[in-house]
Amino acid sequence: MKLNINRYINQLKPSATLAVNQKVAELRQKGKTIYHFGFGQSPFPVHPSIVNALKAHASDNRYLPSTGLPELKTRIAGYLKSHHGIDRSSSYTYIGPGSKELLYQTIMILEGVFLIPRGSWVSYVPQISSKGGSYHIIPTTIETNYKLTATHLEAVCKSHREVQKTLIINSPNNPTGAVYDEEELKALATVCRKYDLIVLSDEIYGLINFSAQRSPSMAAFYPEKTIVYAGMSKIFSAGGYRLGFMALPDSLHYLHNTYQSFFSETFSAVAAPVQYAALEAYAMKMPVVTQIRQNSAILSAVGAYVYEELTSVGVVCTMPQGAFYILVDLSQFGESLQKLELFTSLDIAKYLLSEIGVALLPGSDFYFDPETPIFRLAYVDFLGADWYEAGIDTAHINNEQIQRYAPHVYKGISKMKEFLVNLGS
Ligand code: PLP
Repeated sequence: MKLNINRYINQLKPSATLAVNQKVAELRQKGKTIYHFGFGQSPFPVHPSIVNALKAHASDNRYLPSTGLPELKTRIAGYLKSHHGIDRSSSYTYIGPGSKELLYQTIMILEGVFLIPRGSWVSYVPQISSKGGSYHIIPTTIETNYKLTATHLEAVCKSHREVQKTLIINSPNNPTGAVYDEEELKALATVCRKYDLIVLSDEIYGLINFSAQRSPSMAAFYPEKTIVYAGMSKIFSAGGYRLGFMALPDSLHYLHNTYQSFFSETFSAVAAPVQYAALEAYAMKMPVVTQIRQNSAILSAVGAYVYEELTSVGVVCTMPQGAFYILVDLSQFGESLQKLELFTSLDIAKYLLSEIGVALLPGSDFYFDPETPIFRLAYVDFLGADWYEAGIDTAHINNEQIQRYAPHVYKGISKMKEFLVNLGS
């Protein structure tokens, strides 16, 4: 007899992200050159001081406390204050196996409706759906780089008056590369306070900001009900270490026992050696800080290059301000794409992959209409180590260097341009 499976879990589908990544692997195995703009992994090496801390603690086989190593909680609370201007106490700072898991645990804990701006990370809605939760996608527009506005937020709050509401906001943003500025966050905070929202502020790309040393946080303007999430994956390029954290405001202290129990009954604790590696990372010693700034400068130059090149042939793109993504809108080429019988962003993504070897993710994965020809392009298909070895002055990166040290980005973008120019003509 076939097993019965939880109906909410059973309706989860492998994401298009996974499908595109698998296709890329298949094609590469067959020897095809693929320009892989589908995968959002930091291209840089982990700083040796962090690797050495991990090695030095490899024999630590203890189970640590389920909310995290106390020294690490204290260090991260200090880091939030000194590097982000956020006041959080170490008692309400929690360590988990990636911010993804901590977001998931929070989504499991909170009742009510989740508000998600259109143009948000792929996993929020599947995580909500996996518990049969309800959500509402809030409209956004290119005029604000797909950032949520107070007006759009207020409209949705008015239509969900009676129910507990949780807004998930992500800045710097995946998939758009946009960063909310202080004024935008202040305006959103006013609405959040008026309608008593809980805010999950996903700041996993926090220090990868192209015009400032840090990105403004919702926690500065709506401290009382904002929970901050971040981790090692992006700023320290250590996604595979699986360490994230979340920080509650003191005013939500009554959630402490719920989190502690849920952690201890599920993941128990993050691996001890990884927590010691994080202790080193969040000490934010000068060489590590310098590396983060250099990485951001390289990403900024590559992002600006992609933006310039694609807009030069009439593509509408978001302006890269942080993280390592750009949204690419091919509506301009809609008619020509339809003539090729390509009607959805997924159709087009598959076509681009098989015809020109360029892998993009369809906008439908980020809550855009499947028929809107919009795509996330991750411009990290290069090896950060090559840039370090060449000793590039990251304050003055030119296109020749991009061609040389990010050759897949360079060629992939020129393939896209060629394809679009031919399509338009
Ligand atoms: N949030 C966003 C917006 C992301 O892009 C990612 C990773 O891609 C995560 C959260 C999860 O990061 P991690 O679980 O590695 O901390």
